Amino acid sequence: MASTLNFNVFTAPEKPLVGDRPRPFGDTMAWDPMTSTLIYGESDAVLVDTLTTEAEAEALAAWVALHHRNLTTIYITHGHLDHFAGVSVLKRHFPTARCVAAPGAVELARKQQVAFYRKLLPGRLPAVIPLPDPYNDEVLTLEGHELRIIQQGHTDAADSTSLYVPSLDLVVAGDVLYNQCHQYVAGLTPENLANWLAALDRLAALNPKVAVAGHKKPGAADTPEAIEWTKRYLTDFARLREETSGDAELFGAMTKQYPGWAAPQAWLMFGLA
Ligand SMILES: [Zn+2]
Repeated sequence: MASTLNFNVFTAPEKPLVGDRPRPFGDTMAWDPMTSTLIYGESDAVLVDTLTTEAEAEALAAWVALHHRNLTTIYITHGHLDHFAGVSVLKRHFPTARCVAAPGAVELARKQQVAFYRKLLPGRLPAVIPLPDPYNDEVLTLEGHELRIIQQGHTDAADSTSLYVPSLDLVVAGDVLYNQCHQYVAGLTPENLANWLAALDRLAALNPKVAVAGHKKPGAADTPEAIEWTKRYLTDFARLREETSGDAELFGAMTKQYPGWAAPQAWLMFGLA
């Protein structure tokens, strides 16, 4: 008989970035707060995403160790560097754990501009940032339970995925989902918007009890209501982009619409370039 699964979510706060603001408005540049999720059974565990900096990954590894489980697998939801840069630190603490991602996510991971990130976070990224191994199956198994990989296409990253755990009614959404945190919508095209909304509908159709966002305001509950909030943010952004003129006006309209949300930084809407 399969054991009962459980899960726990670790949230890393915003971290300041070095560099000039690419826009003369919005908060000082910082990386939005982000999550890593541990799913665990009686003896084994699977970790979803590894955070970014050496310090974050060390704190995450210590937190994972507190669960006293054998970490078998690290699963990376998508190929943006912030979600897998900490992997070497986790591997140092849990040397038998494999690190995997869907093949499309590995391809995006391969294209990440590591040198650029090192300039933004000087001395703070691990010295070595290995790529996850491509995982071709659609399911990971943990003590007899299925962890289903859901292909989500282009959301805030190309070839993003979410992880669905039916026995926990849990979705670990990756960056398909944000929770009370300004979203990375720089360069959002109508095609990407349509795909992102469809990806959120796919999560809603699973009717999860818990939905963990890749980026969330620290302390926010992992409520599936965030699916609707993420959709509204995207459609508001697309609408206000049409209704306003210029970046400053659009930024002002979005921060007015979402006053309490974390990471009100202009670069999330317009990019770092
Ligand atoms: Zn992200």
